[in-house]
Amino acid sequence: MPAPSTSGLQKRANKVLPEIVNIDKKDMKARRKQLIAINTLRGRKDPGSVSLQADGAYNNAIYSGIGKTPFQPATQVVYSVAEAETEDKSIIGVVCKNKLCSVHPIKSGEKCTSACSSNLTFMKSIGDEYTWAKEALQDLASDGIEAKHLTTDPDSSAYRAADDLYLEIQHLQSQNIF
Ligand SMILES: [Zn+2]
Repeated sequence: MPAPSTSGLQKRANKVLPEIVNIDKKDMKARRKQLIAINTLRGRKDPGSVSLQADGAYNNAIYSGIGKTPFQPATQVVYSVAEAETEDKSIIGVVCKNKLCSVHPIKSGEKCTSACSSNLTFMKSIGDEYTWAKEALQDLASDGIEAKHLTTDPDSSAYRAADDLYLEIQHLQSQNIF
């Protein structure tokens, strides 16, 4: 069988992509629910308060451009959060950011829209793990999961995101907002 052309593969990928994202989101929601169910069976008083581990993966190492380019060498990041409660260590949260846009040139100053694939302007730091962690943790919170312990690499700012979210929720609770 002849190998498909790259443009054919790209076309097919573009077609199935939104559905893959949906399936992934659904799957992660189910895993979150299951995690809470497991902890409930374990007799935990607070089954949604869990141990998590998180890290970002880049398409190029952030430091690899030193002395070569004034731009960040990475254009894509996947920040994933896994549970450290079961043997599965399932990934239950993912934040994807990319700077890949062929529609809006950097010089034009135009902002990217939902029509192009980029969801991060080139001005923003792609290594901003604080923001990616916060986004992931807020998404987890919407399904009743909060970080009791968060394991990250020592240079990561992600733990500050968890700390700040915790303080924000405490503050809101003290004002009886929820
Ligand atoms: Zn764009």
